Amino acid sequence: MNQTRTGTHAAGTLEKTPVGDLVDGKGHTSGADWLARYSTSLMGVFGTPQRVLVRGAGCLVWDADGKEYLDLLGGIAVNALGHAHPFVTSVISSQLATLGHVSNFFTSPTQIALAEKLLDLTDAPAGSKVFFTNSGTEANEAAFKLARRNTGGSDKKRTKIIALEGAFHGRTMGALALTAKEAYRAPFEPLPGGVVHIPFGDVEALKDAVDESVAAVFLEPIQGEAGVRPLPPGYLRAARELTARVGALLILDEVQTGIGRTGKWLASEDSGIMPDAVTLAKGLGGGFPIGALITFGDGTSSLLSAGQHGTTFGGNPVATAAALATLHAIESQRVLENVDVVGEHLRARLASIEGVTEVRGEGLLIGFDLDADVAPAVVTAGLEAGFIVNSPGPRTIRLAPPLVLTKDQASTFLAAFPAILQTAKDAQ
Ligand SMILES: *Cc1c(COP(=O)(O)O)cnc(C)c1O
Repeated sequence: MNQTRTGTHAAGTLEKTPVGDLVDGKGHTSGADWLARYSTSLMGVFGTPQRVLVRGAGCLVWDADGKEYLDLLGGIAVNALGHAHPFVTSVISSQLATLGHVSNFFTSPTQIALAEKLLDLTDAPAGSKVFFTNSGTEANEAAFKLARRNTGGSDKKRTKIIALEGAFHGRTMGALALTAKEAYRAPFEPLPGGVVHIPFGDVEALKDAVDESVAAVFLEPIQGEAGVRPLPPGYLRAARELTARVGALLILDEVQTGIGRTGKWLASEDSGIMPDAVTLAKGLGGGFPIGALITFGDGTSSLLSAGQHGTTFGGNPVATAAALATLHAIESQRVLENVDVVGEHLRARLASIEGVTEVRGEGLLIGFDLDADVAPAVVTAGLEAGFIVNSPGPRTIRLAPPLVLTKDQASTFLAAFPAILQTAKDAQ
């Protein structure tokens, strides 16, 4: 058949194909057998996966052995609407069946509509622009290049960039240079130069660091990987004033905190400031890979000119359709209100559990500390009890569940947690 003429492909079916069996989760391979195959074929950078997951629906997932879990991590703040959301799924399928990919020699309606939607949701002034990527680290790479182009209006190049101790901005070389953790950085040096890490949340240290040699300051409103650590009140405002004074860019990494995670579109919203740029990714596509750099105002938006940056996949029709569907569902299903209610419920109740010493975070990005170094054992005991949680530190647990988590679902975890903690302590 001449596909060029007809414009159609032969109808395909997943049924009775080896690929179909994998997608449908109908194979009879056990989790243990899959993991044995994993260890011989996948690069060891992630260690051994905790489980082999085959299916999800809403806030629940199932592993290859049929065990059910309440997903309180949401793919690390990614699955904003839970798993297999019917509307997002149908929009992605339709877009893919209509037009899946074009190069950036072309554009598509969903790409343009998503850029407009993001500018609208972030109250961006005229002249603001969007650059789409496939991930958070790529959004920060783009922001890093933006920073390299900022001279603060002078003709003198600026190479200094300020980031914070505890910062996590990604794993590619530029984003890694912004990331603070020595164990992530050291094996890969030399990294792109000029980045200086200053003490977290210390306005005096920021004052000392920000002068006319600084191209940009990168901040996460809440440091997720550092155990859900919010910047102190007033810090963002101070950072805005200090950077504006010397012509340095204020760039906010909202890859984890953005898109409703804290009950607002941006975690930085309440601070009342307008940054020069924001990076987004994790929750944006509701589980489909997409990231974005938003630049606010004309001056910042024109720092990168034609030919200075690019991407093959970034902003493709399917990814941007997925994000549009996700944003629409968050709005129309009043998800932000749910984030406030369920987040508040979780934080208040967690704080009263014996063995929990501190609860931090906003909305459904929650970190809490334990009275012993048992967080990894809590993750293991949680899985046994049917809950997925994460330990960003030896005594810290992070929750970043789907934004549609119900109060009842949250309550099942709260009820189970004392026993999970006890099991973890007994296992030590
Ligand atoms: C996850 C994360 C990144 C990196 O995103 P990837 O999609 O993993 O590349 C960057 N910044 C923050 C704050 C993150 O949480």
